[in-house]
Amino acid sequence: MSGESRTLARQPPPPPADAPAGGPTRAAGRRPPWVLMYHSVSSGTEDPYRITVPRERLEEQLRWLLGRGLSCVGVGELMAARAAGRDRGLVGLTFDDGYADFVDEALPVLLRHGCTATVFVLPGRLGGVNSWDPLGPRRPLLSADGIRAAASAGMEIGSHGLLHTDLTTAPDTRLKQETAHSRALLTELAGTAPRCFCYPYGAVDARAINAVRDAGYRYACAISPGPLTGPFALPRVHIDASDTPFRMRLKQLLHPLRRRPLPESQSPDATGRPRIGDRQ
Ligand SMILES: [Zn+2]
Repeated sequence: MSGESRTLARQPPPPPADAPAGGPTRAAGRRPPWVLMYHSVSSGTEDPYRITVPRERLEEQLRWLLGRGLSCVGVGELMAARAAGRDRGLVGLTFDDGYADFVDEALPVLLRHGCTATVFVLPGRLGGVNSWDPLGPRRPLLSADGIRAAASAGMEIGSHGLLHTDLTTAPDTRLKQETAHSRALLTELAGTAPRCFCYPYGAVDARAINAVRDAGYRYACAISPGPLTGPFALPRVHIDASDTPFRMRLKQLLHPLRRRPLPESQSPDATGRPRIGDRQ
């Protein structure tokens, strides 16, 4: 018998089927929030990692989400609303790697639809390219000015580390640089300390989670974190150019079935931040 069934028994009825995972009646943990993972928004044809969504497809996807009564927000806003039991009808949007096309292609579409998002950038590669990918194409990354432009347009800036490093294999010194130093650089650059971190490659373990938490972040995004699922390892759904409204609907329905619930005990608050040091 789980805590979920006990909670459902004493709280109001669950939200309608169209609401995203993590409605208000389950806000204090349990069902994972629905967070979408984008990367580049452009029209290039070479896309071996399936990380590109053309602007027109993003437009269609946002129209579909809004048409179902959902509001698109960044992860910080989503999780703060969830903690307050006000996340009904919210879906999280994230854009990994901080590609320069975010400002030129994604941002106008987001703003036109009244959406916000979290952009996970790499302060150690400002104005650089995605050289961590062995296959092409090379894509330009946001400069400092580009990050500031996204922030001033109302987007949440999160850290993707310094250089796009797998934290699970990084030595301790490097781990601290990727988490704490990237946060310090972004604080200086954007004027606000980032609340959210995103694990490169979705690679996460207990040591990485503790480093992220100790660096001062409040939330962190993974992809399929399995038993580590929690506010510092949020599951996300990959979105690419093939995601028509039909596929979006399927992903919405499957998300709470494919991903674990968030354990209530790991919900961070203003005072207590859980440690996961016993696992490893
Ligand atoms: Zn990445």
